[in-house]
Amino acid sequence: MRYALNPDFVDAMGKFEFFAYRKKGVEPSQIPAAVTDELMNWVYEQPDEVLFKVEAKPDFRYAKIKGSFSKAKCSLCHEYVFERYVRIKDGQPVCIPCSGYEAKM
Ligand SMILES: [Zn+2]
Repeated sequence: MRYALNPDFVDAMGKFEFFAYRKKGVEPSQIPAAVTDELMNWVYEQPDEVLFKVEAKPDFRYAKIKGSFSKAKCSLCHEYVFERYVRIKDGQPVCIPCSGYEAKM
């Protein structure tokens, strides 16, 4: 089964005054309680079919993510790296820093 938020529900929810406050940058805790309650009560009253789009996925197979304990040695700095973080540079396994990856600031 796949559950997704129903777009019609999201659209209808967006019309509440609560989101007018949020768009103005007002923190949820600063919004008048009556405005928040109006939205919350409305959401609680909606039946599941309104909130969610539910699809049967008869062919879906859960695939377990491969164990993370296998490691490889970086060919440049020779430190061990968990396999899922290994990158390949010039055909050799390398760690992320040695791959030349730089986090964008
Ligand atoms: Zn390295």
